Amino acid sequence: MSKRKPLISGNWKMHHNHFEAIQMVQKLSYLINPGDYEAVDVSIHPPFTDLRSVQTVLESDRIPVALGAQNCHWEEKGAFTGEVAPTMLAKMNVSLVIVGHSERRELFGETDQQVNKKVKAVLKAEMTPILCCGETLEEREAGGTADKVSGQIKAGLAGLKGEQVAGLVIAYEPIWAIGTGRTATPEDAQAVCAAIRQVVADGWKDAADSVRIQYGGSVKPATAPDLMRQPDIDGALVGGAALDPDEFSRIINYRLVG
Ligand code: PEP
Repeated sequence: MSKRKPLISGNWKMHHNHFEAIQMVQKLSYLINPGDYEAVDVSIHPPFTDLRSVQTVLESDRIPVALGAQNCHWEEKGAFTGEVAPTMLAKMNVSLVIVGHSERRELFGETDQQVNKKVKAVLKAEMTPILCCGETLEEREAGGTADKVSGQIKAGLAGLKGEQVAGLVIAYEPIWAIGTGRTATPEDAQAVCAAIRQVVADGWKDAADSVRIQYGGSVKPATAPDLMRQPDIDGALVGGAALDPDEFSRIINYRLVG
């Protein structure tokens, strides 16, 4: 089948207050060309406190960038101090939620089981999860990349039906490449993304063709074109470079380079 429409997502992590966020979105909207939106889907994932302001700018200026969140809880309501429910995000027209980012797993102890509950909760609230997976440097050097990543995908998607898996997004983010300036080679990233698609095909058959698999890990304007050319890479999850509208827009129009 032809390649899926790429999704380029900007994960702002814990950067930009809501005033700065508004400026960022406005700058970005001037830099993205109408042709870019035809060729790629774009999402931005600001901190929770920015979501309402960013939603207002995107909707009032009719900017076709999807609003995303970086995390959520799996329950709909209750005594979970500090947490945010998927339904609260959906009410703000959030359409994509990053689930199981390696920073959540490594710094906040998120387990595969919790990630699986979040994936299900995001789907139940009619949003799309971006399920993250990726290996540490030690795991990579010990030849454990495939096992680690396939284990995370199987656990993250456990109990889902094929039609639920079909529309979702998986982000392959080698942990050693996140925020380090080191990027997997396009060939290495392609090999792991192809293996991820095979895991999906083994468990959920036809869904594998429509799952979008992003690569993430120090993606920059210079590295995006070769990564995006790979047959199993359907987009990018971008951290550092997404904080700068100019850099992020150059990743979004990677097609114009090289
Ligand atoms: C990320 O935040 O998921 C990420 C890939 O960050 P960076 O692009 O800075 O490596």
